[in-house]
Amino acid sequence: MEDKITKLQNLIDNSQNIVFFGGAGVSTESGLKDFRSVDGLYHMKYDYPPETILSHSFFYENTKEFYRFYFDKLLVDGIKPNAAHKKLVELEKAGKLKAIVTQNIDGLHQLAGSKCVYELHGTVAKNRCERCRAFYNVDYIKSFNGDVPTCKCGGTIKPEVVLYEEGLDQNTVNKAVKAIASSDLLIVAGTSLTVYPASGLIRFFGGKNLVVINKDDTINNDAIGLIKDALFIKGKVGEVLSKIVVNISE
Ligand code: NAD
Ligand code: ZN
Repeated sequence: MEDKITKLQNLIDNSQNIVFFGGAGVSTESGLKDFRSVDGLYHMKYDYPPETILSHSFFYENTKEFYRFYFDKLLVDGIKPNAAHKKLVELEKAGKLKAIVTQNIDGLHQLAGSKCVYELHGTVAKNRCERCRAFYNVDYIKSFNGDVPTCKCGGTIKPEVVLYEEGLDQNTVNKAVKAIASSDLLIVAGTSLTVYPASGLIRFFGGKNLVVINKDDTINNDAIGLIKDALFIKGKVGEVLSKIVVNISE
């Protein structure tokens, strides 16, 4: 693995236009569960699979159950950015990293200090009343402590996260595609590349160097074609990125 990290270091040293494409595995070292690792949410006992609970229809039909899962697994208290989030902040400050495209909804990149973050699946940080569209931050939601959060008007509050059966925000997708298409180094990390259309966006990469970081070989077979020429680094994304030294070339 050291050999591959040296290769990644060289690629980063020689690039001024890096894009990072991440998934739930970027936040597991912060203590948030992903979906598909052996200790991920798919392997835990719930009455419904996570994809069912986190769907548009389920939200409206079983709002209470939706929020029970949401509070339990996604709005975990005291979660902090890890070494991966922090290194990406350094790379952005050095002018090397142009954008982070994330499938995560946890807001940890912004909390760490990253500026250009395209959140394909929205964020737990933004919430709106279904009735009057009033805006609420995550602290207001947390104050409901597991119960269905309601607006001052009595309406139910829905987080601005993209649930299954819902479409992605086109504006965010366009910006993400533009960043990916114009980058010369794309780092794909902590994602099983199973969730579409988000995962499919990496097909817009036309640059020279593609790097994939994953702790397991748990990448969706259908996506393997997209990453066949990648430098594959098997390891934890925080551990791998913490070994990178950010050199400012100018
Ligand atoms: P996934 O659970 O399908 O896959 C996670 C991948 O990351 C797996 O291949 C796993 O082997 C790998 N991984 C786990 N920990 C890692 C680490 N420390 N270093 C390197 N690799 C690691 O996740 P996905 O591909 O992002 O798709 C799941 C969907 O669920 C996404 O849409 C995402 O928005 C959502 N989700 C988000 C969060 C979050 O916001 N933190 C958490 C769970 C799920
Ligand atoms: Zn309201």
